[in-house]
Amino acid sequence: MIRAEIIAIGSELLTPSRTDTNSLFITDELNKLGVDVVEKHVLGDERARLTEAVRAAIHHSEIVILTGGLGPTEDDVTREAVAAAVDRVLVLSLEQERILTLRFQQIHREMADNNRRQTFLIEGAEALPNPYGTAPGQFFKTKSGGLFLLPGPPRELKPMMHEQVVPRLRPMLPPQVIKTRVFRVAGMGESDLDALVAPVYTKYANPTTTVLSAPGDLSVTLFARSSSEAEADALLKEVGDPVAQLLGERVYSTEDAPLEVVVGNLLRQRRATVATAESCTGGLIATRLTEHAGSSDFFIASYVTYNDRQKQQLLGISKDLLEAHTAVSEPVARAMAEAAKDNTGATYALSTTGYAGPDGGDQENPVGTVFIGLASPQGTTVRRIHCGLDRARIRLFATQAAIDLLRRELLHAG
Ligand code: ATP
Ligand code: MG
Repeated sequence: MIRAEIIAIGSELLTPSRTDTNSLFITDELNKLGVDVVEKHVLGDERARLTEAVRAAIHHSEIVILTGGLGPTEDDVTREAVAAAVDRVLVLSLEQERILTLRFQQIHREMADNNRRQTFLIEGAEALPNPYGTAPGQFFKTKSGGLFLLPGPPRELKPMMHEQVVPRLRPMLPPQVIKTRVFRVAGMGESDLDALVAPVYTKYANPTTTVLSAPGDLSVTLFARSSSEAEADALLKEVGDPVAQLLGERVYSTEDAPLEVVVGNLLRQRRATVATAESCTGGLIATRLTEHAGSSDFFIASYVTYNDRQKQQLLGISKDLLEAHTAVSEPVARAMAEAAKDNTGATYALSTTGYAGPDGGDQENPVGTVFIGLASPQGTTVRRIHCGLDRARIRLFATQAAIDLLRRELLHAG
């Protein structure tokens, strides 16, 4: 297996004011090539530590990518540190000096003496042209692979990764096909999902499986690598089919589409429309359903009725009903959904009423309790769910659960 290690250099990356995003970008690019990043480091501009880290990285990983610290100033120590790590000297490159001089002429600026630091290459290294900035990247082969030095500014690093790094890495890698299979899942928590499918996927090192989670929204990604397309497909089938079977209808997309897109397409196919009457989700369901172009095909209207008076005025919920059951109740969720459907003429209407917290709730319905109503041509259903205790999470979870309730109804509506 080819392993990679990334070292992001810059003292500012160790402060709260700057985040190392380069390593995430590099990781993504390496993963696409089938290379695993097994370690990454963020180091300040300190030469001795950097030298030590580079030595260890070359020892442990075939591919080492460094980003940052190639600037013209004294605190940019990457070149010196790497040269020391591999016991080589820095050599002035006349070619780089010519390129840099020309660059400064073109922008009608005097080249500062400092910039000459950027014309030094590690002995034996190849310069990687950087038309986006002043510091060239550098590349040299190591005993087991190669080492890349790349500039820190993301707008320089990104194109250089594509133009300089990837083409040099490809020939170093065994021929392989990488294929993925993804399941987007709603209606269950991360631990329940893992308990269900881990017994299947943990038996396999290839494909590798990752589970990502957002409130009410999970994704399971299988990542197969092989020397042939057919074998990669077979691996994905071997693990993916049982996973799909176990998850069943909870899988809302196998094409990595967001839930609202899936539901929008189902509504469109059935020439159906939807309206919402939202309390605790405050319009989030409507926001999601209208996020993508073309939502006017199926989305009609939303009522955001946060207090009881507006539930009465806009939705015609009776005062008696509200008094008898309180706003957070099954009958009120039902009445809200039915009113939204009747008022707008939509085929379906979703409603939410619940306690988003941190205050409110009672013994029977504590904070986190949300009633979700769905009025449809077949009648009205209400689900009572519990979404945890964190306000932001409760609202997102309830939104996702409501849209998923509609998805399941649409599936069965044929
Ligand atoms: P320069 O020639 O511009 O000095 P450099 O290679 O020395 O390039 P740095 O000085 O380390 O790069 O960083 C320049 C800019 O790029 C800074 O704004 C810095 O915050 C940003 N940057 C550096 N490293 C990273 C990183 N790993 N992720 C995101 N941004 C970064
Ligand atoms: Mg710098």
